[in-house]
Amino acid sequence: MRNGGVSFWWQQVGLPTPTDLLDGDVTCDVAIVGGGLTGLWTALYLHEADPGLDVRVVEAEFAGFGASGRNGGWLSSELAGSAATYAEVAGEAGVQRLRDALRATVDEVIGVAAREGIEADIVRSGVLVVARSEAQRRRLGGELTADQVAARVRVAGAVSGHHDPDCARVHPARLVAGVARVVRERGVRIHEGTRALAVEPGVVRTDRGTVRAPVVLRCLEGFTAGLAGHRRDWLPMNSAIVVTEPLSDAQWARIGWDGAELLGDEAHAYCYAQRTADGRIAMGGRGVPYRFGSRTDVDGRTQPATVESLRSTLTDLFPSLAGIGLDHAWCGVLGVPRDWSASVCFDPGTGLGHAGGYVGSGLTATNLAARTLRDLVLGHDTDLVRLPWTGHRVRRWEPEPLRWLGVHALYRLYRAADRREDAGLPRTSRIALAAHRVAGR
Ligand SMILES: Cc1cc2nc3c(=O)[nH]c(=O)nc-3n(C[C@H](O)[C@H](O)[C@H](O)COP(=O)(O)OP(=O)(O)OC[C@H]3O[C@@H](n4cnc5c(N)ncnc54)[C@H](O)[C@@H]3O)c2cc1C
Repeated sequence: MRNGGVSFWWQQVGLPTPTDLLDGDVTCDVAIVGGGLTGLWTALYLHEADPGLDVRVVEAEFAGFGASGRNGGWLSSELAGSAATYAEVAGEAGVQRLRDALRATVDEVIGVAAREGIEADIVRSGVLVVARSEAQRRRLGGELTADQVAARVRVAGAVSGHHDPDCARVHPARLVAGVARVVRERGVRIHEGTRALAVEPGVVRTDRGTVRAPVVLRCLEGFTAGLAGHRRDWLPMNSAIVVTEPLSDAQWARIGWDGAELLGDEAHAYCYAQRTADGRIAMGGRGVPYRFGSRTDVDGRTQPATVESLRSTLTDLFPSLAGIGLDHAWCGVLGVPRDWSASVCFDPGTGLGHAGGYVGSGLTATNLAARTLRDLVLGHDTDLVRLPWTGHRVRRWEPEPLRWLGVHALYRLYRAADRREDAGLPRTSRIALAAHRVAGR
């Protein structure tokens, strides 16, 4: 089994060599720091709105090196952030507007991919979430009976389920590589292999020169903590994925899963999975949630304990796959704000902006956030700039060792709550409710 190498997705398409490295000092109209989907979509929409703008992206490795090229491929309409937090500023109506906008964004991404010839194994198959205990069933409130779930996917112990049609299966590396290709074709420069060291009003200082621009947008998500002055903004939370060898027809016949639905469960330490276009199962979960001092992984390598935990989740869901080979494991970081809610911010006074903090639901949200940033930067008064995450401010995380102790305690609590619920507790465990309070969710 291969571990790391950025991700299985990138290994399938081939790891790119960084190109167009910054060579000395430059001046442009908009400097975007981070070449993941937030940065790339922002560059694309800004260029589309005003092709005369000189927009440049500064990327430490290569476009799509981060979570955008490593994720589970759920292009979903789930809310990126906490409904309660957004409701505090915008009421229930504001939360609903954000939900509606995210739903519409699933089709926006699919539409751009179709228009631009981005082949990313996209199937708008919806997501199936299953409950495997009475407590999960009550929490999920799903409309599918156990038999109806089994008619789609035979998950061991599933008692009910919910199918949301507004979700698509994607191949993450193909999507982000496609968006990067389109951005370059438009003439936007992506300076790969160029690491930002500091971001200040009007300037990005990198290890290869200085980019001066009246507008500087920080799009670093889970890597934000690595930038000077931002260590405690968003916590880099790990998520890890394993991918099986291709399943045989007989193995698929035992499981069902004839469609390409995304599959998840309602546990507190939840898992997420997809059936890949080449007939494997990719399954992810939290694993070791956080590294001390907000460090990130090296090249996507994950801990052996995480691989074993994901293997056991996989065979717990599908006992008929006991002993199946795993071909690849990897991990990545996503950005978690202290209140678990995303933000899209731009200050016309300083020209500084940022977007991110999507807490694991960023694949769709990056596109919506990018169009919002575009409108903020161009000063357009649109519905997007009135979404509840615009201008959202959040306090910073606690210093170490509190941060490390808190996150690890939190996930111990979630796992304990899952064990109680699995053992027959018929309602959501109080331990999980306490964990939510500790987390500030
Ligand atoms: C394992 C995993 C599974 C996930 N599964 C899903 C899913 O199924 N569905 C979903 O909706 N979301 C999922 N997410 C979350 C989603 O992938 C992210 O929210 C989204 O990709 C964030 O995009 P981004 O562009 O903001 O950040 P990233 O894609 O992380 O991009 C940030 C970029 O900044 C670069 N960078 C870092 N430091 C610097 C620096 N100093 N200077 C310049 N560049 C720098 C990085 O190399 C990287 O390319 C998952 C995340 C992970 C890690």
